[in-house]
Amino acid sequence: ADDMTAPLLSASESSADAQPACPSSPTVVILGSGDFSRSLAMRLLGCGVRVVVGTRCVNRIPSGLFPDAVELKSQEGAASQVDCVVFMALFPEHYSSLLGLRSALAGKVLVDVSNAAEMNTRGPSNAERLAELFPDSLVVKGFNTVSAWDLQTGAHDGSKQVSICSDSANAKRKVLQLAQHMGFHPVDMGGLSASREIEVAPLGLFPSWSGPILVAFLLFFFFYGYGFLRGVLLPFLAQGHNVFYRLALDVVNESLPAVALVTLALVYLPGLFAASLQLWRGTKYRRFPSWLDKWMQCRKELGLVSFLCAALHGVFGICAPLRRVTQHKFINAAYKQVEAGVEEPWDEVGVWRSDLYLSCGVLGLGVLSLLAITSLPSVGNSLNWREFTFVQSGLGYSALTLSIMHTLFFGWDFAFHAEAYSFYMPPSYVVAAALPCAVLVCRCFLLLPFISTRLARIRRGWESRRNCPVLQRHPVVANGISQQV
Ligand code: NAP
Repeated sequence: ADDMTAPLLSASESSADAQPACPSSPTVVILGSGDFSRSLAMRLLGCGVRVVVGTRCVNRIPSGLFPDAVELKSQEGAASQVDCVVFMALFPEHYSSLLGLRSALAGKVLVDVSNAAEMNTRGPSNAERLAELFPDSLVVKGFNTVSAWDLQTGAHDGSKQVSICSDSANAKRKVLQLAQHMGFHPVDMGGLSASREIEVAPLGLFPSWSGPILVAFLLFFFFYGYGFLRGVLLPFLAQGHNVFYRLALDVVNESLPAVALVTLALVYLPGLFAASLQLWRGTKYRRFPSWLDKWMQCRKELGLVSFLCAALHGVFGICAPLRRVTQHKFINAAYKQVEAGVEEPWDEVGVWRSDLYLSCGVLGLGVLSLLAITSLPSVGNSLNWREFTFVQSGLGYSALTLSIMHTLFFGWDFAFHAEAYSFYMPPSYVVAAALPCAVLVCRCFLLLPFISTRLARIRRGWESRRNCPVLQRHPVVANGISQQV
């Protein structure tokens, strides 16, 4: 009676796109009738596979839960129908309840789709435990990284990669083929010991983001605290000047560009450390310290954090004229000038300064946006190595240079005046610009011909005599042509 309570698709309609399997198609058995089983059954049917679901109690499954073409049987009945592949769509703590099916499942491929219960589990993985329980079967780990939702939304959706591993090459090949047939991109992860890594993969909470986010928060708190102390608290304590209203927007908007600038410098700093280490060691074949490795791996995230802060700073800047305090100051200044009968003088230097810093800021944000877009896998994957290096290094350093120029034009000669150092503290943009300027100077230093040539040789495999265990008979030169000694 009520249209709103009626489902958009009836159960028969929702399974209508699942083709009925032809009797000669392979039979895949799924043990368990939960969410994953239902979605998997629909996807397999859609690929023309005959599906048999084994459940503890057939009568308990409401009609319409599975498409009509799926055969529902007892666990024993389903196990007797297995051609080759059985999906274990139940939680690992219930694997032992299936021990009665051991002989029926002997020689069959058991696909363990379970996830780990927590990140730091010790001992064998779920798949390894399943292999211990069913020693005569061939256990394959896979499909756990795909959610029931992904399985249902079909092959048109984004999340198509499935990691698969097994100690049996034959069993793994069969599951890899089935995954491909279902429209996934299977990735062979090797032996069953890889299942530990595969099982915890869905539990990670943005693992590569924790460092960059922590750094951004620490920097923000530092600059916010610095701005609060210098621009709000000390003036209040020293002169009774109440400007606490600045905390909500002004201090935030002073801190954001500082964080953006420093995090952008932190994207390029590890590359300089790596280059210096290679130059000093005279080889690229010695591993970097682990802290440097980790730092290099999170450069993309640091860059995106920088982009976010810069974009927020831009939005805050655009909102500035809407502020009550801006309007108040502007109208008051105009009123005082009218009252005094004076005109605002043309300030040539001020005009250049504001135009230059705004222009550099907008261009810097534009280049940063390009960098952020190319960090998307779909865009980044379409670039070849040279294009990627040009974007990430060439454009990246352009963004850093423009951002530094934006800051320097904003400061103009103010940093050289004594009044800029109220309470002996430099303005926060001077503090923020120090590291990026140092990064840029070091980068220019590395571009000097005698240094860049040596670095290029090292990166093409040349090693200094001090490090080279065997005499190099064919030293590699920068343009890639070997010279006979
Ligand atoms: P679920 O909805 O709770 O289904 C689990 C099924 O296990 C039950 O419906 C039950 O079916 C069966 N089962 C067999 N023996 C059992 C026993 N002794 N006690 C209790 N249940 C028993 O769970 P699910 O979401 O489908 O997840 C199943 C497995 O898939 C889990 O290992 C999970 O980690 C994995 N997985 C799930 C998803 C997802 O999106 N849901 C994604 C990736 C991986 P019968 O009553 O018919 O026997």
